[in-house]
Amino acid sequence: MNSSHDLAPVTVIGLGPMGRAMVTTLMNAGHPVTVWNRTPSRAAELVTAGATLAPTPADALVASELIILSLTDYPAMYDILGGSTGALAGKVLVNLSSDTPEASREATAWAAKHGASFLTGGVMVPAPMVGTEAAYVYYSGPEALLREHESVLRLLGAPRYVGKDPGLAQLWYQAQLTVFLTALSGLLQAAALVSAAGVPVGDFLPDALDTFTGIPVMLEGGRELAKSLETGVHPGDLSTVLMMGATADHIVRTSETLGVDVDVPKAVKSHYDRTIAAGHGTDNWTALYEVIKSRR
Ligand code: NDP
Repeated sequence: MNSSHDLAPVTVIGLGPMGRAMVTTLMNAGHPVTVWNRTPSRAAELVTAGATLAPTPADALVASELIILSLTDYPAMYDILGGSTGALAGKVLVNLSSDTPEASREATAWAAKHGASFLTGGVMVPAPMVGTEAAYVYYSGPEALLREHESVLRLLGAPRYVGKDPGLAQLWYQAQLTVFLTALSGLLQAAALVSAAGVPVGDFLPDALDTFTGIPVMLEGGRELAKSLETGVHPGDLSTVLMMGATADHIVRTSETLGVDVDVPKAVKSHYDRTIAAGHGTDNWTALYEVIKSRR
């Protein structure tokens, strides 16, 4: 391990589970880390482990050139740094908090106004996996800035640079979280369905989890899917919109009968109904994309 005297100091603002995992990872690599959090008690264990708790956000900015933010959203950044903008000049803000692409673009302009550079990021693993081989982080903004600080940022997870537009990292992040959150809601919906019929959830879950891992195989790595989505042509008669739509209707009716929530089943059925109404009933299920891609 390098001596902490050799390595650049880093400031981490925001000590939720994610921020705390980042601090630990950076300290384990030998970086001196200064932290600040609205609720100072969340820093206690990190301070015991060697982190420095800055008394104010301005002190946290002064302590390092590289400032990593891990907050609930971007407004939290303004709440914290809005009163210390005089200390922003020359700093590199790396905001790894979730928000909209537009919020990232506005923050980039805000930072520039105060003389700071800005990288947008989205961490693609849960907090316990930060710093592991599996971790990766989307980044957007000035690529040279990422490369300049890559040796530090790489400790958190492999950087995946997605483009100059500051909004892109959050766009990729939100898209990934769309897959994740809808899958989790689907999983819980399915668990509620079997449970309402008296099936122990634990008996059902292994099969449900197999479905998660089976989908990439069913989609053959996504190559044909990408072609269909890009061309708007949806060939195939093995899983048509009509057949899948009938199943979507059965799920709604079964859910109603069993008295579980029907929002997710109805949303899915709506995709099929509208795709059939648009004339795609005999196309492959991928034709749902024609309805989903433009809000009507
Ligand atoms: P938490 O919600 O636990 O922590 C949020 C942090 O933001 C805390 O330090 C909190 O301070 C601070 N905060 C929120 N609002 C304000 C405010 N108005 N003013 C000052 N501070 C504020 O989130 P996580 O640590 O779990 O996540 C941080 C970011 O990382 C989020 O954007 C999340 O989407 C993202 N992320 C999280 C993952 C995870 O597994 N946890 C996975 C991937 C991404 P205080 O302690 O005082 O409440």
